[in-house]
Amino acid sequence: MKLLQQILDHNKDFVENKRYEEFATTKFPDKRMVILTCMDTRLLELLPKAINVANGDVKIIKNAGALVAHPFGSIMRSILVAVYQLQADEVFVIGHHDCGMSAIKPELVIEEMKKRGVDESAFETLAYSGINVEEFLKGFSSVSESVAHSADMIKKHPLMPKDVPVHGLVINPETGKLDLVVDGYGQ
Ligand SMILES: [Zn+2]
Repeated sequence: MKLLQQILDHNKDFVENKRYEEFATTKFPDKRMVILTCMDTRLLELLPKAINVANGDVKIIKNAGALVAHPFGSIMRSILVAVYQLQADEVFVIGHHDCGMSAIKPELVIEEMKKRGVDESAFETLAYSGINVEEFLKGFSSVSESVAHSADMIKKHPLMPKDVPVHGLVINPETGKLDLVVDGYGQ
C-alpha cells in the first residue's frame, strides 16, 4: 500500500475512534513561548520530551537547520505572529549537533539536482536573475555560532518588541542534553 493511502486509512480510524480527544487544547501556548528548531527526524518526539512540553504548550517552527536565513522571510514572520498574536512571550532557538545543514555541500546538491533532471539552463536563468543557488543552499560550520546568529537576528529585528527574551540552545539528538548558547534574560 502506498504511503498516502496508509495515512488516509489510519486517519479515518483515528477520527472515528475519537483518538483526538486526548490532544484537545487551544491555539494559545500554555507556556507562552515559541521555539524555532530543526526539522531533523530525531527531534520529532525527543525535543518535546527533553524540554517537558506537550500539545498545547508551545508554538513550534521548524526548518532545515533552525535558521533565520532572511530577516523578512517566513520564519521571522511566524515568530512575529507568535509574539504579537498568539501570546508567545519568549523565543527559543534550538539547533542540534550532527545537523544536516552543517554538513551540506551546495555544489553536491546542485550536482544532484542536475542528475534528477533540473536543466543547466535553469541555473543560468537564476544566475542572470541575480540568484546565487550555492548561497541559497548554504548551511553553517558551527551550530552554536549559527544558533547565536539566529537568536541575534531575532532579538535585533526592527519589528520585535524589546522586552522579549530570545534564548539560544543546542540539543544533542541522541541524549536530548541541552547546551546553553544564549541566555535571553541577560540581553
Ligand atoms: Zn538539523
